[in-house]
Amino acid sequence: MSEHNFNAEYDVIVAGFGGAGATAARFASDAGAKVLLVDSAPSGHEGGNTRYAGQIVGAADDYSKMKEYIENLAEPFEPDEELVNAYARGLTEMPEYFKKYLDVEPFSVKKDWDNSKINLSEMLPEYPEYSGGDTYDVLLVHDGVFDAALWKILRKKVLERKDQIDVWYEAPIVHLITEHNAVIGAEIKRHGQSVRIKATRGVILTTGGFENNVQMKRDYLGYSNLAPIGSLYNKGIGIKLGTEAKARLWNMTNFESLGLQHGLEPVPEVSAQARLILSWPKLSNGSIFTVADDGTRYFNETEDNRHGHIYDHGMWRVPTNNVSPYVIFDEKQLVKIKADPIPWDKFEEQLIEAQSIDELNAKLGLQSGVLQNTVDQFNLEQETENSFDKFGRSTGTMNHFDDGKVYAFQMVQTMLNTQGGPKRNAQAEVVDFDNNPIDGLYSAGELGALHVNQYQGGMNIAECLIFGKIAGENAARHERKSLVTSDGFKTSDVDLKSDVQDREDTDLGENEYLGVSHQGMGDELRVKVHYENEKILNVEVLSQSETDGLGNKAFDKLTSDAVVKNTYNIDAVSGATVTSNAFRDAVKNALDKAKQTSNN
Ligand SMILES: Cc1cc2nc3c(=O)[nH]c(=O)nc-3n(C[C@H](O)[C@H](O)[C@H](O)COP(=O)(O)OP(=O)(O)OC[C@H]3O[C@@H](n4cnc5c(N)ncnc54)[C@H](O)[C@@H]3O)c2cc1C
Repeated sequence: MSEHNFNAEYDVIVAGFGGAGATAARFASDAGAKVLLVDSAPSGHEGGNTRYAGQIVGAADDYSKMKEYIENLAEPFEPDEELVNAYARGLTEMPEYFKKYLDVEPFSVKKDWDNSKINLSEMLPEYPEYSGGDTYDVLLVHDGVFDAALWKILRKKVLERKDQIDVWYEAPIVHLITEHNAVIGAEIKRHGQSVRIKATRGVILTTGGFENNVQMKRDYLGYSNLAPIGSLYNKGIGIKLGTEAKARLWNMTNFESLGLQHGLEPVPEVSAQARLILSWPKLSNGSIFTVADDGTRYFNETEDNRHGHIYDHGMWRVPTNNVSPYVIFDEKQLVKIKADPIPWDKFEEQLIEAQSIDELNAKLGLQSGVLQNTVDQFNLEQETENSFDKFGRSTGTMNHFDDGKVYAFQMVQTMLNTQGGPKRNAQAEVVDFDNNPIDGLYSAGELGALHVNQYQGGMNIAECLIFGKIAGENAARHERKSLVTSDGFKTSDVDLKSDVQDREDTDLGENEYLGVSHQGMGDELRVKVHYENEKILNVEVLSQSETDGLGNKAFDKLTSDAVVKNTYNIDAVSGATVTSNAFRDAVKNALDKAKQTSNN
């Protein structure tokens, strides 16, 4: 096929239906473009990290202070002045953005959040020692976090524009099509076949980071064991495509983490996706410490992390990655741990028990005597009252290790998102090595984000909203330097229609009722409830797009509980609170219809 044969044409192609892509597609369409939005995930599972995020969005009330804070975070690097200006302006206008484009009154965490639910005060600002940070606030679309609420608004804004935006699911972008260094289209896998789509105005890359690409984690971070907490679909394609278009890559070594200690979590069992546990105090405080791969301690286990970064000689960094960090503790600490609800259901199963420190040393495959030395050192240091050990841990948080049984519990460094990718400018144009815009190529979101090392929470999603809008509008209005040539369109066996269609009616038998909820993590949750003589006889989940693995497991329990207890008002499944709420809401919706019918 010659390079100029295409299967179809759009004004703008947006690759990646997460927060940045949804925003870019929506604003490109509002600027008059016919848009193709593609995502590699199946329908309902798009949304990338945006769907799993805390839904916290950065904002500021003072432009100059915000600029100063962004520049301080990037120290010692020189800021890209124009880019920082655009970002700071966007952050300052965020409350207005919420009202005007998301149709919600912003919920200010600074003013209105109840920190006893989850403590967000440490994020306001996350780097209080840097000037300018006192202007920073984070906004929510309502009084709740980690419930995909913002994501669902962004998604809805796309689906409402289905006349202007075609959406293809399970349709990964695989290559850019270029002509004389301009990006003129994209090759996309659709139903297993390659299709070539012309973009008369531009291509916007919003494919997220490389959290799930082992080779890129090796090549760019030099790390082998990082467990993603968010989407499993972000595989770094935008970086590969950026290099195809000769883009400059930047901020490749930075990534964010979250969780216990410096962003460690228990090792996930089946999928690579780690569970986000934000608090487990007994895992840091007492006769307990964490060791690196060589069996020695390497940080203050009680220190709060800043998105996984901990203090390191004047800078905050995620510590060097260990393949198998272990939390080590004695018998009395285990008793304390078990006295509280344990937030990880595989704790007992994954616990390594030994009769002595030497035996544990052998079980962990450490060099002979190392663990004993670490324990001896810890015991020695904890004896000094009102002091700090060499990592800055208060000796008041350290208890003597007793003789007898000892335990190890393996952890893994988590990864929220990477920041690296093709560099963009203030117009959201991707630039080449000399910082010149590449004709027809735009980007937004965490792919090529602005954060070089130290990161302030809330800024990634803010970047999606701010630069998604800029990218969408600029791509839609982009005038090509030269006309994109084309030898006409090749017909394709592949269905090129949008995957966004009106829903088909559901077949319902006698005494069966459809229940619908929009409170889940993904697309609409639909259940069919068989309700007769005031009894729930059966609940069937007709369609759902909750988190892979976790959601399915939860539904088995929820459907049976609803029948056994004959109510929608059943207990949430641990680790699947949002999904459980959506299930209850959907069953309630069906029961309301049943009751309405019987009243008529
Ligand atoms: C648990 C968690 C909590 C977080 N909390 C916050 C928070 O509260 N506030 C904040 O600011 N940031 C937060 N972050 C970071 C933030 O969520 C992300 O940086 C941001 O959402 C990224 O948005 P995006 O649109 O750039 O990428 P994503 O939302 O990740 O979307 C990328 C999309 O590209 C798709 N894709 C990948 N490859 C291809 C391909 N080949 N072709 C087509 N599509 C493809 C993916 O399927 C995905 O849908 C959090 C991250 C995580 C994981």
